[in-house]
Amino acid sequence: EAPVLAIDGPGGAGKGTISRLVAERLGWHLLDSGALYRLTALAAARHNIKLDNEDALEPLAANLDVVFVPGEEGGRVYLESEDVSDIIRTEQAGDRASLVAALPRVRQALLRRQRDFQKPPGLVADGRDMGTVVFPDAELKIFLTASAEERAKRRYLQLREAGEDASLSSLLKEIQARDARDMQRSVAPLIPAEDAIELDTTHLTIPEVVDRVAAFLAQ
Ligand code: C5P
Repeated sequence: EAPVLAIDGPGGAGKGTISRLVAERLGWHLLDSGALYRLTALAAARHNIKLDNEDALEPLAANLDVVFVPGEEGGRVYLESEDVSDIIRTEQAGDRASLVAALPRVRQALLRRQRDFQKPPGLVADGRDMGTVVFPDAELKIFLTASAEERAKRRYLQLREAGEDASLSSLLKEIQARDARDMQRSVAPLIPAEDAIELDTTHLTIPEVVDRVAAFLAQ
């Protein structure tokens, strides 16, 4: 089977950017698993399904009509033929994603979908439970972290660049709340796999992190 590089960690640690750059360098496929949870929450809104209605969310997640088109800046994502690439990136979408992500049957419904991305020559899988649940036999597991303050700062700069208004202190609060929810949930809580390598990116640049991940893979 094609090799998998699992990149897990809390929100804002740089997983998305690092995973994309490493996948580009290797010429491997990319799985943005967080996008699937964001898309499930968005599809729920479109179909007037409440985020605690697990009976309705399970088939919704299992049958999600999604198309990922690779390209610059992570490519584009289509939900039921509509380009939702920007809508799913908002803080609100992330927050709603973490609510559906706490439902065991939603996670189960998205499992096969995620494993379908494992194709030659290889897969870089970005998420929270790539190394623990989805790809336990991954070739290499990296757990990316950064201090909550640093993650809030990165998110702040990202939003400002996108022309959005943001406040550093409210972003920090949101990040801490989301961390708590992701770590304390009973299914697939955010914890490093036993055989994961932890990499703290607080004081590293993006190219430095990419180089280190590539070096671990070459070992
Ligand atoms: O990584 P991203 O910010 O897009 O993820 C949004 C939310 O989806 C996370 O806060 C988390 O609750 C959930 N998620 C998850 N498992 C994954 C990826 C994301 O539970 N593999």
